[in-house]
Amino acid sequence: MVDRHLSCVLKSKKLPLWKITNMSEKPVRVRFAPSPTGPLHMGGVRTALYNYLFAKKYNGTFIIRIEDTDQTRFVAGAQDYIMESLKWCGIMPTEGPGLGGNYGPYVQSERKEMYKPYAEKLIANESAYYAFDTPEELNLVREQAKAMGMPNWQYNGVTRVSLKNSLTLPADEVAQRLKDGEPYVIRMKMPRNRDVRFEDLIRGWVVVNTNNIDDKVLFKSDGMPTYHLANIVDDHLMEISHVIRGEEWLPSAPLHVLLYEAFGWESPQFAHLPLLLRPDGNGKLSKRDGDRLGFPVFPLEWITEEGELYSGYREKGYIPEAFINMLAFLGWNPGTTQEIFSLNELTEAFTLNRVAKAGAKFDAEKTKWFQQTYLRAKSDIDLGKLLALELTEKHDLSELTAICKLMKERATFVKDIPVEGAYLFSRPTNYDQQTVEKKWKEETTPLMNEWLESLSSISPFDAITIENTFKSFLEVKEMGIGAVLPNFRLLLTGNGTGPSMFDISAFLGKEECIERMKIGLENIIALKA
Ligand code: GLU
Repeated sequence: MVDRHLSCVLKSKKLPLWKITNMSEKPVRVRFAPSPTGPLHMGGVRTALYNYLFAKKYNGTFIIRIEDTDQTRFVAGAQDYIMESLKWCGIMPTEGPGLGGNYGPYVQSERKEMYKPYAEKLIANESAYYAFDTPEELNLVREQAKAMGMPNWQYNGVTRVSLKNSLTLPADEVAQRLKDGEPYVIRMKMPRNRDVRFEDLIRGWVVVNTNNIDDKVLFKSDGMPTYHLANIVDDHLMEISHVIRGEEWLPSAPLHVLLYEAFGWESPQFAHLPLLLRPDGNGKLSKRDGDRLGFPVFPLEWITEEGELYSGYREKGYIPEAFINMLAFLGWNPGTTQEIFSLNELTEAFTLNRVAKAGAKFDAEKTKWFQQTYLRAKSDIDLGKLLALELTEKHDLSELTAICKLMKERATFVKDIPVEGAYLFSRPTNYDQQTVEKKWKEETTPLMNEWLESLSSISPFDAITIENTFKSFLEVKEMGIGAVLPNFRLLLTGNGTGPSMFDISAFLGKEECIERMKIGLENIIALKA
């Protein structure tokens, strides 16, 4: 959601590199700051990836901080899920919960006690104030405003003067209320009519007038800071140099800039990444879109407490490097035609100036293409090892390697291999009906018997010798390949199409080929009868 008040996002110009890295001034320290409110959306993974690449590129540090100040939205297992996802993607931070680092703890609820003094500091310098209005009282005011035709009532510089806060109540009453332990929140005292400006590394100059921002709550009555306060305090204490995050946080950035100013701290540089859009470009890619449109939206599978299952790239069989390569291109391009990038190559090529402002459309076909390309680029033996993990029965690695060599051009996922190439594991039990009908003629049965005889005498039984023998057979018979090969394939595999029949025959071995041909002939004759 982009704030309607973000009226004035000026055209960006390309920023010089020194400005983006700020290298001359301080070391690059970037953070990925997810809230553990559920599984990590692939948009979140992309944010983590760009942070990772930026840190690596400038010899900086990539940090993960868990932002769990909103206890009402906490979801058990989400933090572990996030860490496991980053691990699977190969983009682990070097500082974070369980990872060490000198700026911990890296989970905000474990830093709880740290925030209040900062909120009080803002009260002391008159950038914030105590507000004692109860939720019921505020609801009433809101309802009254609505009835008077003002549906978007806000607690702000205009309305605060008639509300119950430390700006309107006498000082001794405020002190008494605090002493009595009356619930309160601490709100930002948003200045009136000021243009807040900051230079976003992707969007250029952003200017927002403070009249459009309400007096945001910084500290809640439950003793916890809100996201805004905790985020700024932690980014400062953790010496974050660049805040690289999703576009949905752009409306919060002016408030953040004002908070840095109120504390008298130097603000990090901001880079707001474009949204991930549905394939048709119509709206943000939501967690429900994926399974509805047939692709995962999450890196790993996730089952909700209600038992609802969201599919994951890992479980679908994606190679993590393919997933990462695809994600890198959702919002960034290298400015060349190269599409396949290892993580190291991405690190080399990545710059924030090549990140787009416009939303990036997810492309399911392209995602499959990345997967196929990565699958094919793997060595046969590596694929064989992956295939072994997919199978319940034990097989020789050399056998699995040979199967992968035969099948990899025809598979998108490793798990397609035993399905597409089931006949490499066991004899066919079915024979493709269409091929039987179209290709198996009256003369085919005697012809195949003759070919069986020729085949039985092939020695050595390797692909080249089988191919040469087959060609001679065609010559002698004065027949085209189309009359013989499909039927040969039918007998050995049960299928109408597949990889080279000479490679398949060599893989199966002479005895097995003979056996399959005999069984196939019997079965097809029976089918035809
Ligand atoms: N906790 C925020 C989120 O869940 C992080 C926003 C930020 O990076 O500042 O996305």
